[in-house]
Amino acid sequence: MSQHFDIVVIGAGIAGASIAAELAPSASVLVAEGEKFPGYHSTGRSAAFWAECYGGPGIAPLNLASGTWLRDNGFLRQRGALHLAREEDAAQVQAFEDEFAGTGVTIERLGRDDIERLVPGIRPEWTHAISEPLCADIDVGGLHQHYLATARQGGAQLRTNCRLTAARREGAGWVLGFSDGSQCKAGVLVNAAGAWADQVAGIAGTKPLGITPYRRTVVQLRVDPPSDPDLPLVLDIGANFYFKPESGRLWLSPHDETPCEPCDAAPEELDVAIAIDRLEKVVDWKIEALERKWAGLRSFAPDRLPVYGFDPLCDGFFWFAGQGGFGIQTAPAAARLAGQIILRQQRDAMTQGIDVSVYSPARFG
Ligand SMILES: Cc1cc2nc3c(=O)[nH]c(=O)nc-3n(C[C@H](O)[C@H](O)[C@H](O)COP(=O)(O)OP(=O)(O)OC[C@H]3O[C@@H](n4cnc5c(N)ncnc54)[C@H](O)[C@@H]3O)c2cc1C
Repeated sequence: MSQHFDIVVIGAGIAGASIAAELAPSASVLVAEGEKFPGYHSTGRSAAFWAECYGGPGIAPLNLASGTWLRDNGFLRQRGALHLAREEDAAQVQAFEDEFAGTGVTIERLGRDDIERLVPGIRPEWTHAISEPLCADIDVGGLHQHYLATARQGGAQLRTNCRLTAARREGAGWVLGFSDGSQCKAGVLVNAAGAWADQVAGIAGTKPLGITPYRRTVVQLRVDPPSDPDLPLVLDIGANFYFKPESGRLWLSPHDETPCEPCDAAPEELDVAIAIDRLEKVVDWKIEALERKWAGLRSFAPDRLPVYGFDPLCDGFFWFAGQGGFGIQTAPAAARLAGQIILRQQRDAMTQGIDVSVYSPARFG
């Protein structure tokens, strides 16, 4: 006889782990992860920052609500961020400020003297910046482990090497089949499969939402002078690069966004070369070695907002997908909100100011 769970979560990245942690105290939960190690895909490949503006104004409420929790629980380390601009980027600087007006984020304009002080070696054409003083590094491994441990303490089971391969409705619930040959029954099926979210919808017989994975590359460089540990996260206002110090090295991304199939993403040489070329146009530092490079997938719904909610066409199918480039920094509020929807619980202090209708799968008709 198949085991029965109230809720089966597909995927044990930050999305699956965090929602399981919210659900486990109130329901029987299985988390099924296709890989041997949870976090093998996007969650283990992030650039590990929390920035209030990252993802745009539609994500800011999730960033802000999550930031308070992350800071209070010791998962953030203060860094600050600078969005650099040149004289010709004045319209983009203004547009950035206008876009975030009234969202509650903390931003301020800086001039050349401040930029030179914060980024020694900056080239002369970078004359303006918008600062996000509250930007911080996230302890991603610690946060992911915290959620996996909280889920287990709540009674959730985690099965790895266990890929969902079949799902059919039976009565008021689901009969699910997995790649390890096991089967189980479930009341609710949660789709936290990251880049594979549309595939999981297909397995469950419901309509995919057009969630598309985009490859993003990061390189680790040794530079001279050595990376100052207090350097802010440095981005440009046109979204062509970002870099930050990490353990005496520099993490640099060309901010690439190449659509691709869900896969074990690997960096392309061209993206690595573009990253280095762009860095050389920003600072006069000497690049001594390219020590590591990796790529991961950021998966977006067509409108680039995440998707949290029950599928309007398929009973018992819950979307927790489309976490894009902000899935770590939004995890606390997103998981709390999604857990409250599934368990039909009241909103709490963390989620009460968030308009969940903008994230509902029903918006796709
Ligand atoms: C280079 C890069 C930098 C980033 N930087 C940041 C950052 O600084 N801050 C930030 O907040 N975010 C950042 N992100 C985004 C963040 O990493 C993602 O939004 C987040 O990790 C998504 O989490 P997830 O759990 O949805 O996906 P994943 O971590 O990919 O987890 C999905 C899991 O589902 C499993 N799965 C898929 N199909 C099945 C199936 N059929 N059965 C069972 N399991 C299945 C997969 O094996 C996978 O482990 C970055 C991403 C990249 C690539």
